[in-house]
Amino acid sequence: TRTLSVASSQGSSVCSPYATPSYFRLVILGSSGVGKTSLLRQFMTSEYMGVIENSGESVWERTVSVLLDGEESTMEFTDAFEEEESLENMNFDGYVVVFSLTDRSSYNNAISTVHKLRNELFIDRAIILVANKSDLVRKREVTADEARAIAMQYDCKYIETSAALNHQVDDLLVGSLSQIRLKLNIHIT
Ligand code: GDP
Repeated sequence: TRTLSVASSQGSSVCSPYATPSYFRLVILGSSGVGKTSLLRQFMTSEYMGVIENSGESVWERTVSVLLDGEESTMEFTDAFEEEESLENMNFDGYVVVFSLTDRSSYNNAISTVHKLRNELFIDRAIILVANKSDLVRKREVTADEARAIAMQYDCKYIETSAALNHQVDDLLVGSLSQIRLKLNIHIT
């Protein structure tokens, strides 16, 4: 595992004793139709980004550059895992688990994914539970309270987004990055 602390050089004359990790790999998980592709698309148009890059290698691999606390980081998103079994072979810095607020079964699926990551695979990296389609207020099937409570139980960050309205999508991007830094013990001073 990669645990780096770059908190302080303790007055040493060395300028930069450690390189701050700045390239992070994330995976987007969730049932079909919850809005994973739409969220990825919105990330790419985020005004928060310093630079926009496309890896060009694969449609499913995208990179975004985010400036947070004066430190630029690159986040590479993968959305390639339809199959549950692939979870075992994953090794990412961050896991974005998406469900739709209008689809209870997608919520159940997201929770079982989170459960598997934390309690079966013992992943201690950042997990962000994303409740998408917050714009469809009247079709809501999952309350914020219950989802937030479950997220807390599994030590996940919880965020509600609307990819359609581009609401809270930047917060998801930035929140994911700060959660990743937190879990990797990276301190930006
Ligand atoms: P994926 O299968 O998880 O990649 O889901 P998509 O991104 O393809 O989205 C599935 C459908 O939900 C599409 O018709 C999207 O336009 C729609 N959709 C995605 N996000 C939202 C949202 O936040 N609000 C609404 N109302 N529709 C959304």
